[in-house]
Amino acid sequence: MCDWSLAGEFILNEPLKKHTTFRIGGPAKVMLFPRTIEEIRQGVLLARESQLPYVILGNGSNLLVRDSGFPGVVIQLGRNFSKIECKDNLFIAQAGALMPAAAKRALKEGLTGFEFASGIPGSIGGGVNMNAGAYQGEMKDIVSFVRVLDRDLNLSELKKEAMKFSYRHSKAQEESMIIVEVGFSLMPGNPEEISALMEEYTKRRNFKQPLDKASAGSTFKRPEGYFAGKLIEDTGLRGFRYKDAMISEKHCGFVINEGEATCEDVLTLIHMVQKLVYDKFGVCLEREVKILGEE
Ligand SMILES: Cc1cc2nc3c(=O)[nH]c(=O)nc-3n(C[C@H](O)[C@H](O)[C@H](O)COP(=O)(O)OP(=O)(O)OC[C@H]3O[C@@H](n4cnc5c(N)ncnc54)[C@H](O)[C@@H]3O)c2cc1C
Repeated sequence: MCDWSLAGEFILNEPLKKHTTFRIGGPAKVMLFPRTIEEIRQGVLLARESQLPYVILGNGSNLLVRDSGFPGVVIQLGRNFSKIECKDNLFIAQAGALMPAAAKRALKEGLTGFEFASGIPGSIGGGVNMNAGAYQGEMKDIVSFVRVLDRDLNLSELKKEAMKFSYRHSKAQEESMIIVEVGFSLMPGNPEEISALMEEYTKRRNFKQPLDKASAGSTFKRPEGYFAGKLIEDTGLRGFRYKDAMISEKHCGFVINEGEATCEDVLTLIHMVQKLVYDKFGVCLEREVKILGEE
């Protein structure tokens, strides 16, 4: 028997719907909440010894978890990794800190650059992994360095250039790196202007996005030269529904969970939308939301 407590707090058969903004997903065989980098290492080593797959979870805001769950170890870097430090213009956040919290702290320190991410409901680790972005800003614009555990569980520091950032992509995805801490290069700014910009972005989000509904944000990536939401709207799919999975009336780029949607329901709806949009416009909509679990 494996002593999971070597990797911090743990729960067996934890429903992942409790840990995703979509409120969808079956159980993780083991869910770990490490408190230190050493405990993250132990978690990975124990998973490997037990021949179980493992995955890192941030805030679960870009994930669609299978109804059968994840037959392995989910390592969540959350509250235990949420420190944000700012000293001598060096702004460093641990991977579990939330982007809105980091944006708020930057405002408090009078630093500009983080405003675009003030309404993205993910963690710093998830944001860097995904190169999250909004309102013409992306994580790659403000990241200075990233501290990661590589496949051999060595801790190393990568400069921004080594992260190979591109649209909703980073090298961390290719090489299964575990992001533990990120340094940002922000500029001194006027707190009133920073605050006004954050408020403006919040207003725009509240106006455009179904923030009162369970979702994982934009379901599809932006196809070159188009907007996914507009293509879906122009295909006549506003409010299109399969069981409890629905194209948001407010923003056609969002699939929302109207109550009891399953992963299967959401995937069925996604496939229908992809086909209908392709038939009408010849454009392939690629999923931005990541799927966790086995078919
Ligand atoms: C209402 C809403 C609005 C949104 N708006 C935006 C937006 O404007 N722009 C945007 O880009 N996204 C947006 N999103 C999507 C989502 O918030 C981002 O993709 C975010 O970066 C995901 O972070 P997370 O911590 O939730 O990651 P998760 O969903 O937990 O994970 C996403 C991926 O990152 C990996 N990962 C997480 N943490 C780490 C780590 N520490 N090390 C290595 N890999 C890690 C996971 O394994 C997974 O592959 C929105 C989502 C919602 C629900």
